[in-house]
Amino acid sequence: MPHTTSDRPIALDLQNIHKSYGSLEVLKGVSLTAYDGDVISILGSSGSGKSTLLRCINLLEKPNQGTITLGGESLNLVPGKSGELQAANRAQLESFRARVGFVFQNFNLWPHKTIIQNIIEGPTQVLKISKDQAISEAEQLLKKVGLLDKKDAYPDNLSGGQRQRVAIARALAMNPQVLLFDEPTSALDPELVNEVLAVMRDLAAEGRTMLIVTHEMRFARDVSSQVVFLHQGRIEEAGTPEQVFDNPKSARVREFMASHR
Ligand code: ADP
Ligand code: MG
Repeated sequence: MPHTTSDRPIALDLQNIHKSYGSLEVLKGVSLTAYDGDVISILGSSGSGKSTLLRCINLLEKPNQGTITLGGESLNLVPGKSGELQAANRAQLESFRARVGFVFQNFNLWPHKTIIQNIIEGPTQVLKISKDQAISEAEQLLKKVGLLDKKDAYPDNLSGGQRQRVAIARALAMNPQVLLFDEPTSALDPELVNEVLAVMRDLAAEGRTMLIVTHEMRFARDVSSQVVFLHQGRIEEAGTPEQVFDNPKSARVREFMASHR
């Protein structure tokens, strides 16, 4: 159920994130707070900076300015080359990345590994969990996403929807504090979208903290506790789904909503 910000602990906090590529300033000071159990949908036109924002959270892209705090611990960032910030401490960055699950538009599964091998890679290599335990947990997760029977298949033999459900299981296997989704259904044939959204709805109902870049408006409206609208690297409007979908203050957001029904 949607809820507003509250007494729940803060899961992820971003303050004043700036990111430039050369002279192109893509993020112009974005701040965002996800409380435990929040589902934050990030909307906005193509090129508004949505992917860059998600990628800055685990330093897939290096911000030029700003702070990133996960579960009360701030990532220690220091100036690096060409004005970008970099992690001062490699071990802390690795630990951050392990606690932030990322689900990409194009799945990014390892093609030469089976489904179960894809899922146990992180837990065994990064978390140093025993192979037996990792397999048993991976099987539970595959059951949860309805793909236990595919555990020994290769990604190429799965549909796009099935691959994305594996990618979600793989992210969950790291037991992350926050899950980031970057247009997880945009690469899918329309008839495969709902099976992925159904898994994500279950995660939301379980109280997982998630940031989701999506163009699935009905889904965003149903599952989000907060909706954030980005425009040219700034938050144009943010609020509850009711506020942003039904009563946007910004004419730009109104227009976007009207063209995405
Ligand atoms: P969105 O995900 O909202 O479509 P992006 O975050 O992908 O937007 O991109 C925002 C802007 O940053 C776009 O103008 C894009 O061309 C630019 N951009 C993204 N990644 C790079 C990069 N690696 N190098 C240069 N420009 C980039
Ligand atoms: Mg994008």
